[in-house]
Amino acid sequence: MLVDALRNDFVFGDKSEMHFTRSLLKSGKAMGFTARATAPTVTMPRVKALTTGTVPSFLDAVLNIAESDTSSSLAHYDNILWQLKHQGKKKINLFGDDTWIRLFPGIFSRTDGTSSFFVTDTVEVDTNVTRNVKPELLRNDWGVTIFHYLGLDHIGHLGGPDSPLMGPKQKEMDSVVKTIYDIITKQDMERKSENPDSKSTLFVLLGDHGMNFAGNHGGSSHGETSTTLVFMDKDMDFGPSDKPLSALLDKTLPQVNFASTISLLFGVPIPINNIGYPIMELLDQQSGPERLRSLQLCTHQIYKLLATNDNVKDMLDPSDIKQFDRVDCADISGKDDKIICHYAKSLVNHGKYLSTGSDIYLRQAQASYQETLLITNSYLSESFSNYNFTAMFSGMGLMSLAVLGFLFLRFWEEGWSSEATESTKLFRYFDQSIFWTFIVLYPTYSMLLREPSTA
Ligand SMILES: [Zn+2]
Repeated sequence: MLVDALRNDFVFGDKSEMHFTRSLLKSGKAMGFTARATAPTVTMPRVKALTTGTVPSFLDAVLNIAESDTSSSLAHYDNILWQLKHQGKKKINLFGDDTWIRLFPGIFSRTDGTSSFFVTDTVEVDTNVTRNVKPELLRNDWGVTIFHYLGLDHIGHLGGPDSPLMGPKQKEMDSVVKTIYDIITKQDMERKSENPDSKSTLFVLLGDHGMNFAGNHGGSSHGETSTTLVFMDKDMDFGPSDKPLSALLDKTLPQVNFASTISLLFGVPIPINNIGYPIMELLDQQSGPERLRSLQLCTHQIYKLLATNDNVKDMLDPSDIKQFDRVDCADISGKDDKIICHYAKSLVNHGKYLSTGSDIYLRQAQASYQETLLITNSYLSESFSNYNFTAMFSGMGLMSLAVLGFLFLRFWEEGWSSEATESTKLFRYFDQSIFWTFIVLYPTYSMLLREPSTA
């Protein structure tokens, strides 16, 4: 269940009206996190980040507005929905924001799309989703069902996070959480009474991005990048926490971690361009060998990605492993060597654990895998979102100069000179083309800075 613009404090904050969800979190039946989204904080790039585990480009913010655009679809881009459908053999349905239908052509079995275009609608856009919840979940043919609610985001755009409509909307969303939770709890019990080994249903409540003090989003302020991520699963016992729920406002992880975590929980391949690392609190529910295998798969995938983007060899061989055997990885200064060192240590300790079963090696292998993933993630996210702002602003400056030059030439020709020479003509055409480029690009640029009324 994706609630558009569900900022972390809408669930974890003291003013939250989502009492049922909060009671699950307090009693340990659910586990919550603040997922940190990266800019551009608009729906389409966020859905891409959640499903591919990678950081989409800035251009996606523009394509988010161009509704008819199909070049941004993920039809040829590895993602968890494709994997769940083709490897996991799951039937996938979508109810709500039709961005998903454009992004994933051919993936969904049943859909009922709503449009984010009518921002003044905060009621019908959600009842059109809720009307599908009971009938769809009560059918027994679904594997993955996505409900994407837009009303809360629209309220933000209209009246900000403190709008008088916000409390009632949170209550409405909370009651949908309860409806879904009750249905799947009942279904899980029935299934387990028939087959005790059957697995329970994973229910995730999440936001795609947050909102700023004015209720808008698109940029990288704290409010816009802080989103809710809550996992509920009968098979998982998270244990009650003695900390107040507001502590979850600071329990932060990268939003891209969602994709690899889902892949590993469902046993499908991790998307090839994933830069996230699995959420350990959820893997902790697995047995030792399972957990290490999960970490190994993710480390292998992310290391391969590093190898294609960086000058490191794409497989470690026994000589690498031997080289780093007696070295303390903390003493190594080079980024690549540091990663290889942690990776080599993970493999060595993993092997020792499998042959001895000793918990010491389990802990050591787990720590090394986590360290490898953490460093690689921060390195890759840095290099993928490294925009050259100097070049971008120099370009803008040059274009502004061209506009001034154009105006000057026009004035020169019309004011002082009766006949334009060949070279001023040529200059004029060149200048005009830059002028029009600027005219076309400028609104796009300002759209990036303050996103208008799109979800
Ligand atoms: Zn919005």
